[in-house]
Amino acid sequence: GTPLAILGGIGRAAQMGAIIKGGVHLETLGKVDTVVLDKTGTLTFGRPEVSHVLPAEGITADELLRAAATAEALSEHPLGKAIIAEAASHGVTPLPVSGFSYEPGRGIKASDAEGAIYVGNAAWMTANGVGAVPEEGAFVGTRVFIAREGRLLGHVVVEDKVRPEARQAVEKLRGMNIDVQLLTGDTAQVARRVAADLGITAVEAGLLPTEKLQRIKAIKASGRTVAMVGDGVNDAPALATASVGIAMGSGTEVAREKADIVLLGNDLMRFAETVHLARRTRKIIW
Ligand code: ADP
Ligand code: MG
Repeated sequence: GTPLAILGGIGRAAQMGAIIKGGVHLETLGKVDTVVLDKTGTLTFGRPEVSHVLPAEGITADELLRAAATAEALSEHPLGKAIIAEAASHGVTPLPVSGFSYEPGRGIKASDAEGAIYVGNAAWMTANGVGAVPEEGAFVGTRVFIAREGRLLGHVVVEDKVRPEARQAVEKLRGMNIDVQLLTGDTAQVARRVAADLGITAVEAGLLPTEKLQRIKAIKASGRTVAMVGDGVNDAPALATASVGIAMGSGTEVAREKADIVLLGNDLMRFAETVHLARRTRKIIW
């Protein structure tokens, strides 16, 4: 049977706001020496706001926002929600949409009466026949490009605030001698700013979901015990592969399903405290 100390630990973790799906995960958490954090929705609120609307020549801001909001109408992604909110604040309503598809870590495709609309990052534009677009620009923020059948309509800049508890949590993890890393699908410019804000030095940007997964595999192969904390559809494979996967409470259903531990809220301090608890529980048993 499960040792009483483990059952007690699971109970205490639940009171602290972390639901642990089995005793083995608490044990593994007690051995963790590396923590990998996702950015959007994990270190940041994931409630980004559009800060700039930058249409291409001959396109109005409303036209750009209408195309973007139409394509994002069925999106679960925080960037999609930010675009829809921005369109609404301009009094722009989306058009009827068909054939929505999502390429995690890159962007989406959907069609209105005029044809296909592509919304996403620079790689997504290139993949869909739009010429090269610059990944970094004058404004620090995530640049989301909008195109229609190979033609760039423009882009919007989206800004997402860092969670205040994140800095404290990173400090606490470091204090426990844990190696803290940031992996994100977003651009290097945005990733560097967030990492600098939090004092994280190990950063990798521009990663696809399969690349996040590969990074986790490589860390495990080097003999380390790695916890991955994420929230998105794009994090689900990495969460499932990590020694222990942790989903944010506000995370997508698939992230919460694949994780071994689900935070009740989104407070990363709760996670850091749970690691501390897991270590103490391990000491009681061994
Ligand atoms: P993170 O790893 O930081 O959580 P994601 O992997 O979810 O970020 O997204 C990576 C990038 O892919 C985003 O920064 C954005 O450029 C693009 N992207 C993903 N989904 C969408 C979407 N629905 N609309 C627009 N862009 C998107
Ligand atoms: Mg995320």
